[in-house]
Amino acid sequence: MSTSILVINCGSSSIKYALVSDRREDRIFGLAENLGSPEARIKGITVGGEALELSIPNADHEKALETILERLSHYNPQAIGHRVVHGGTLTKAELLTPEIVQRIREATPLAPLHNPAHLVGIDATMRLFPELPQVAVFDTAFHQTMPSHAYRYALPKFLYTQHNVRRYGFHGTSHAYVSDRGSELAGSFREGGWLTAHLGNGSSTCAIWNGQSVDTSMGLTPLEGVVMGTRSGDVDPSIHSFLATNLGWDIYKIDKMLNSQSGLLGLSDLSNDMRTLIEASEQGNEDATLAIEVFCYRLAKSLAGLSCGLPRIDGLFFTGGIGENSAYIREKTMSYLPHFGFNLSKEKNDELKRGTEGRIDAGVGPQIWVVPTDEEGRIAKETIHVVETEVHQTTGKKLKAQAMMA
Ligand code: ADP
Repeated sequence: MSTSILVINCGSSSIKYALVSDRREDRIFGLAENLGSPEARIKGITVGGEALELSIPNADHEKALETILERLSHYNPQAIGHRVVHGGTLTKAELLTPEIVQRIREATPLAPLHNPAHLVGIDATMRLFPELPQVAVFDTAFHQTMPSHAYRYALPKFLYTQHNVRRYGFHGTSHAYVSDRGSELAGSFREGGWLTAHLGNGSSTCAIWNGQSVDTSMGLTPLEGVVMGTRSGDVDPSIHSFLATNLGWDIYKIDKMLNSQSGLLGLSDLSNDMRTLIEASEQGNEDATLAIEVFCYRLAKSLAGLSCGLPRIDGLFFTGGIGENSAYIREKTMSYLPHFGFNLSKEKNDELKRGTEGRIDAGVGPQIWVVPTDEEGRIAKETIHVVETEVHQTTGKKLKAQAMMA
């Protein structure tokens, strides 16, 4: 491996990691889970493609990171890239300094579940590997190019000016990677108007004009927008007062219901997993059929709405576990979008194999592509860019100053 970057995504009791090298096939990835419990362990895939499982009883984040790095140290990673969900108003990936760590801490009220976990990981790696440059790559940063008419809510102004209440958008690394890669495949790198549909457990859509996000479906938090595995997506905000008044629910119960018990799971009363729902629907389960229908209809509606952000539509990219793998969901979604001249080729759509990129329109109208996402690859690329521009520039300046002083 020539250049290798360790990409880390810290959750409250887990750490996803990937060692990203120049060649995608050489990637090593894994997961430390159940941290802080006797069942703590690391599961992963080695460079030879073999499975790895290692018990690390009661290990905390720091111990797990130490073990992960020990196992990877002979690959000599040059930097660490941290995925951070919320960067507040930070507009790009940043080298981790005490000031940037403080900015991530300040954004915690906007991502109370995610940012504290990322900070635990950042604190641990900065203590363990002070010599390695570390970079934070934010899910929100790509969307900082949205114009104010797309990111402001129609709420009293002081909520924005004094409390940062606005739309931020998420999945930015994925939308950025997929729109770059997709427009490159289409022969118009970072040019024109594109829609992306990232469809996984969490799902969001984005409108991209000349390589920049101009609107997206998620908002202040990742709850807004399309139907997801367990998240409701858009609902009338008065649901809070309705449930409080009529059922006596408190804010925490309502929040939990909207985030963890709704979406595909809530509609089907069966599962948050699209594969399970498609199978159940084929066997005649009406709730599963309705859940799929609502998912596709609301997705098409979101894409149609986002088209207002684009002077013209050159095409649409599907990605994420559902977008990459389900020809059925792609076809159903496109059946609700006949208005922009989209023309899906049933044959090409059905033929597209798992995990491959490819064009699936019939050759007339806006293009339609499947582009497998690569969030780790994008984080690594941004990390290298920050390290090269900031660390090496600073070192260069230092060397120059020393030479002048000598
Ligand atoms: P995450 O957001 O956790 O990264 P993924 O992007 O892996 O999730 O997407 C998970 C979703 O993709 C699940 O709902 C899963 O059922 C769905 N999925 C994966 N393969 C298929 C398939 N062949 N057909 C339909 N859905 C699929």
